[in-house]
Amino acid sequence: DFELKGRLITLLGLGRFGGGVAAVRYLAAQGAQITVIDGKDEASLTDSLQQLESLSQVKYQLGSETHELPKTDLLVVNPAIPPCHPLLKNAEELQIPVTSEMELFWQLNPARVIGVTGSNGKSTTTAMIHAIMQASGARCWLGGNIGISLLPVVDQIQPDDWVILELSSFQLEALNRIQASPQIGVVTNFSPNHLDWHQTVEHYRESKQTIFRWQTQNDFSILNADEGELQNWSAAGKVVRYGAAPDTQLDLLIKGEAFELTKQNYTILPHLNVPGMHNRMNAAAAIAACTCASVEVAAIQVGLKNFEGLPHRLQFVGEFLERRFYNDSLATTPESAICALDAFKDCPIILLAGGSDKKVDLTDFATQILKHSKATALMGETGPVLSELMYNLKERSDVNSSTVISPQQTSFEAAFDWAIRQSGPGDVILLSPGCASYGWFSSFVERGERFVKLFFELNARMRDST
Ligand code: ADP
Repeated sequence: DFELKGRLITLLGLGRFGGGVAAVRYLAAQGAQITVIDGKDEASLTDSLQQLESLSQVKYQLGSETHELPKTDLLVVNPAIPPCHPLLKNAEELQIPVTSEMELFWQLNPARVIGVTGSNGKSTTTAMIHAIMQASGARCWLGGNIGISLLPVVDQIQPDDWVILELSSFQLEALNRIQASPQIGVVTNFSPNHLDWHQTVEHYRESKQTIFRWQTQNDFSILNADEGELQNWSAAGKVVRYGAAPDTQLDLLIKGEAFELTKQNYTILPHLNVPGMHNRMNAAAAIAACTCASVEVAAIQVGLKNFEGLPHRLQFVGEFLERRFYNDSLATTPESAICALDAFKDCPIILLAGGSDKKVDLTDFATQILKHSKATALMGETGPVLSELMYNLKERSDVNSSTVISPQQTSFEAAFDWAIRQSGPGDVILLSPGCASYGWFSSFVERGERFVKLFFELNARMRDST
């Protein structure tokens, strides 16, 4: 029932990433009266609030915990709100229907959906699929958890278009309410995550499985065959498997730089601008998805070649005096930083590592740094932790490492300068901190942008001095 005119709607969780704002704007445009509730205060929501300034039919309850909903016909919930939130309980008691930005979009969207979920590589895979679909000439739309709401443009989407969505476990969980799954569903991998929201691994797994749960037998369920966990997932659609470990069940096999479509007996050798085995896995998932959407091989080649990578994810910043600079500021966990070190295992790496302390074990990260990096600049709260771990490891007879470990750096600029001084032609200068950015920065975005800025300033400095 989409008669929204004059209805009272409560939006729980405005957020800072666009979904909440898009939902309010959409609902307001339909003539609804909206109350926005958010535990954060006005100051922390400034950016979002500015985008809603002109809307007179929106009221706000910000910065306080309320346990009772105002009078409302429909509750629209931000995916970040945990299922145990008191206002969700209250809605249940009052039998008020609950929906979300993604559900509203889904119910209005006339086009076929390619949906991507997983614990890592979602955004990259989603963006790769979008690049390929664009190269194929199809009309296509990119959105979802990647930070774009398609609700404001849903009226422009046509039945023959393709919608490519990154789906978080929170968004998938909500799709269970309307029993919806994408026509082409992709799972990149699975490791326990977000257990603060889901509380148990089982709940997290069940949410993710929504990607296949409501498919029909004409749909496609694409999964990473190298992930043992995924093999037991029941899929309603036609199962398509990709992986790097040879297996007779595979539809798509990664063989070095090549991708072999085993059933068609055809090999694709695309040009990938993004480094690392993990990105070849992401490309395999994207190729599989696009093949299911009947995209021609030529378009797959062009799409992948056009794909330059997403900002802050092993993003190639530029080359300067034969040194290549990569921004992997999004690597806020030791696992992703290890992925980055592995991606450049054949080059000398000057690493910028460390940041705020999430109290996770950094031993593996320290071990991999000693193994792969030529020199490492240590930053932030975890700088001393990494330093101690590395010096202890170096004392062991089986660790034979010549990595130069910097003293604790007092600023990001100092760390950058130290890294430059250590570098030589052919080196990769890599920001992949393995830790969160708080303390020195407000977010990984600010940290990555600072790195890019320092790179361009370095260029300008050298130009001026010659
Ligand atoms: P997500 O959207 O799932 O957070 P992204 O595509 O934004 O994933 O990548 C985030 C980080 O995760 C990257 O910087 C990289 O270090 C790591 N990563 C990307 N793809 C994979 C993958 N397939 N497997 C493991 N790690 C990955």
